[in-house]
This record gives sequence, C-alpha cells and structure tokens, in this order.
Amino acid sequence: KALEMLREARRGAEDQDSTDSADSAPVPSMAQCRARVLLDQLGDTPDTMRTVVNLYRTTVDGKTGVGGAFIPKVGYLSDVTAEMLESVADLVRCLPDWETVLGDESEAYRFPTMQRAAMEGRDGHCRFPGCDIPADRCEHDHIVNSWHTSPDSDGPTSVANGMCLCRLHHALKTAGLWSAETVDDGVTVIWAGPAGVIAVTEADGPLSPARAGPDI
Ligand SMILES: [Zn+2]
Repeated sequence: KALEMLREARRGAEDQDSTDSADSAPVPSMAQCRARVLLDQLGDTPDTMRTVVNLYRTTVDGKTGVGGAFIPKVGYLSDVTAEMLESVADLVRCLPDWETVLGDESEAYRFPTMQRAAMEGRDGHCRFPGCDIPADRCEHDHIVNSWHTSPDSDGPTSVANGMCLCRLHHALKTAGLWSAETVDDGVTVIWAGPAGVIAVTEADGPLSPARAGPDI
C-alpha cells in the first residue's frame, strides 16, 4: 500500500511538472508513506484510534494499587504508570477473589463476562502447546464439553472447566484431533494428540495460581 501511495505521488508530481505548475506538492518519502498507511490502519487520529492494553492491578481491602501492576508480555509497572494508564482506560473490571471465581458456574452455554475475563487473566495466551496468541484474542472453550453441545457430556460453564484457545486450536479440539483434560481447575492442561503425543501446558497469565509466589 505504501509503495502504491509513493508511485501515485510520483506520477502526480510528474504530471505537475509537465503542466509546469509552480506549487506542486512535494513527493513524500517511503517512510512517510508507510507511516500514513499504518496510521490509517490504527484509526487515523488519536480520537478514533483504539489501543488495547490489558493491565492487571491488585486490590487489597478495597484499595487498588497495592502490590504493583502487570501487563502481559511487558511485565511489572510502577503504581504511578498503572494509575496513569487506568485513568485513560474505557473499561475497568473488578474481579472477585479466585475462590469466588472458581465457585461460579453458569447454566448458559456462553461463558459470562466475569468468567471470560478471569480465564483470559489466568491463561495469558492460547493454551495449546507452543501457541502464544494473546488470550483476549482467543475463543473460550469448555475443557470437558458442555451438555449444550454434547448431550452425553456434563462439562459446566465455569472458569475451572474453561480455557482460552485461538480459533485454529479450538477447531482442532472440536474436530477431535486433539483432546484436553485438567485435574486442577484449568491451571494445568494435559493434551493428547495424534499418534499418542502428550503435551502439558500451564496457565501463564498474571492471574494464574501457578504464577503466584512469595514475590508477588
Ligand atoms: Zn492457539
């Protein structure tokens, strides 16, 4: 697209030269064309741009900003930076403690908003072995199939029976090429694939119980 834009601008400049116009527009550089294309893709202006930054903060006794903040793939932030980012956020969710999260089961097939947010925070990225597609761009899968889709299965709609999978890996599981099970409410997922392949993945997000330790 940038190259097209550059060629177009050069053609325009040549036409201007041939008509001998005094005030022809300067031809932009390739870097300027690339920047223009990128800006268009992002939404053009600060008012229309949408940037997704998933920031996790702790709350202790109703007070936010105790114990730091975390952005997946970026790391820990100071409370001052976290405060600044939160002040411009258009969506802030408060999750209950993890025990309450795990105790929540829904009768519906679709995972409720709180469950989806908790799963994304726990998983960090797609739970298929070796896949790092961010959890907020994943689909939400019932590890044990829901009775809504498989009448002879009894998987509840809950964080303990849910995981984030990208579209491709969700499709592989749904097609039965790979199967998955968990023995610890979704923190560890054991995968069985074609030809007897076994692989294990652990929840890697900031809310993962596997991540919590004395330093956090
Ligand atoms: Zn994946």
